[in-house]
Amino acid sequence: MKIKQKKIIYLVGLALIVAALILLLFIKDKKVNKIVDNTPFRSEQGRLIVTTSLFPIYDFAKIIGGDKAQVFLILPPGSEAHAYVPSNQDKETIKNSALFFYTSDLMESWAPSLVSELSVKTKAVATANNLNDSSLDPHVWLDFSKASLMVDNIANAYKALDPQNASYYEQNANNYKQQLAKLDTDFATGLKDCQFHEFVSGGHMTFAYLAKRYNLKYQAAEGFIPNAKIDTDRVLKLSKEIKDSKQPYVYYEELVMPYLAELIHQESSARIMPLNSAHNIAKFDIESGITFIGLMESDLKILRMGLVCR
Ligand SMILES: [Zn+2]
Repeated sequence: MKIKQKKIIYLVGLALIVAALILLLFIKDKKVNKIVDNTPFRSEQGRLIVTTSLFPIYDFAKIIGGDKAQVFLILPPGSEAHAYVPSNQDKETIKNSALFFYTSDLMESWAPSLVSELSVKTKAVATANNLNDSSLDPHVWLDFSKASLMVDNIANAYKALDPQNASYYEQNANNYKQQLAKLDTDFATGLKDCQFHEFVSGGHMTFAYLAKRYNLKYQAAEGFIPNAKIDTDRVLKLSKEIKDSKQPYVYYEELVMPYLAELIHQESSARIMPLNSAHNIAKFDIESGITFIGLMESDLKILRMGLVCR
């Protein structure tokens, strides 16, 4: 009996050792797979697959990545950026990209949980985290000096992932930063000598960074994200201010119905004009090859008209 018990103990011990060895081999295999899986996602042509959230980042990533990257804008054309929630299909597209660029945890509040689900094959970069002046205003790209830092963050991610082409990305980023610097100078010069020094938007508060940089006063009918309910008191207050100061225009934003701007127009008789904060673009804009800098140049012309600049 004792011998039989010893035999059983011996067999159980042996089984445990074999199980442990199998487990070790399995863990080792997993580690090997992880290293193999670490290669970035590329297109059939060998270009890095890159996903982006908002239009400015899409445009920056496309210019910096050049012919080394295939860049996708996840936000469907014409959709409102703050209300967007990624579909399962969008999530899959992001999970199958080598780089995922977004603005910040504040702007794309859906991003952090998705980032936590990404594999080691996808590097996520919040291009404007820590660039916010106010903890609540996510529209960082509308300060072109901050947009330039976003460009640096994008270029650095490309360089880290694809060091062989580091100088290519660096050159593209430097060229683009020169264009952003020129845009900044054009705004500073173009908005320096104007009859009016304040402007009002009938949309949500998107231009605070831009207004601050060029010493303008700016007010909006809604907060940093579009409101579901109309704040009638605020609309009436803004209408009165526009009427009293004789501002000729009130602005409305892209891709939404300009009903608040129209209410202000009815109360104040200021005319309405579009001002594009570039969160997203319409399908026909994508097809026409519109750029972030092109949109901003157009905004400068419109602002100069509304502020009556010389
Ligand atoms: Zn916004």
